[in-house]
Amino acid sequence: MKVLIIDDCSDAQALARVLLAKEGLETLSASSGPQGLRLAETISPDLVLLDLEMPEMSGFDVCRALKAQAATCMVPVIFLTGSDNSGDKVRGLDLGAVDYVTKPFDAFELRARVRAALRTKHLQDLLVQHAHIDPLTELWNRRALIERLAQEWARLQRYGGALVLVMADVDHFKRINDTFGHPAGDQLLRAVAQTLASQCRQSDLAARYGGEEFAVLMPEASAEQGAGFAERCRRQIELTALTIDGQRLAVTASFGVADTAGITSEGDLLAAADQALYRAKHEGRNRIALARTALAEKV
Ligand code: GH3
Ligand code: MG
Ligand code: MG
Ligand code: MG
Repeated sequence: MKVLIIDDCSDAQALARVLLAKEGLETLSASSGPQGLRLAETISPDLVLLDLEMPEMSGFDVCRALKAQAATCMVPVIFLTGSDNSGDKVRGLDLGAVDYVTKPFDAFELRARVRAALRTKHLQDLLVQHAHIDPLTELWNRRALIERLAQEWARLQRYGGALVLVMADVDHFKRINDTFGHPAGDQLLRAVAQTLASQCRQSDLAARYGGEEFAVLMPEASAEQGAGFAERCRRQIELTALTIDGQRLAVTASFGVADTAGITSEGDLLAAADQALYRAKHEGRNRIALARTALAEKV
């Protein structure tokens, strides 16, 4: 785990680094608030040790800035205070710090407080992860997709670029459940999920959107690349040989592909992919359809 030390005093920095190295922790340090904030954003530390008294920007201001940003608001902060002033401690804790250590610090106390904060951070990370993963398929869940879509949309508004959303729905899934039972249906969902995950890039996000419906978000992909991905998955699913009770199950899925051409909100992108999927179903299933938006550029 990584700890970022923000302290204008180089001796305090060095001492903290030595003590934390003994805990097997990776440490990075910054000598001012602004430098610390930049580092916190780029390295995503698991903990910040923050000096309260710094000339350029006080620890209080740094803590406030860390807590105000989505990228850093979940990182626990332990502040280092030279004074035994209880007002400072109260203020730091009220700003969102989890703990404090009084300088000059006692080596064992500092290490113990860091260990305690990191234990909590680890549990928090596990909870956040669980809240974003679908337990049946182990793909990302709908919440993860919606959050990532919002981030990608914001990135797009700011820097431009491309984004494709692919929606997939298993064909006549209800029949499979009804004929072979729910556990067989579950097994099939896992197989479909595996296909989607294996065909997409590391930078894509494959999610179970709900029931037997999946969504894959593809940053920096073109409509053609999205369609290529969907077609590869469609073929792979068609070839998936699931044998249940000695019977071979025919499995197919339909796909809707949308890019952002002419799209003005993230909700519109979801709707466009969903409409395309609906068309693929109507046109006979086991096929892919491009949203009108994705088609718009080409015709
Ligand atoms: P279509 O080709 O039009 O998509 O038909 P369909 O039968 O796939 O669609 P429908 O929406 O009628 O049925 C979806 C079924 O998915 C109904 C529901 O019982 C089932 N389902 C939803 N979640 C799960 C799950 O977690 N496990 C299993 N086994 N079945 C599920
Ligand atoms: Mg200082
Ligand atoms: Mg279906
Ligand atoms: Mg469905």
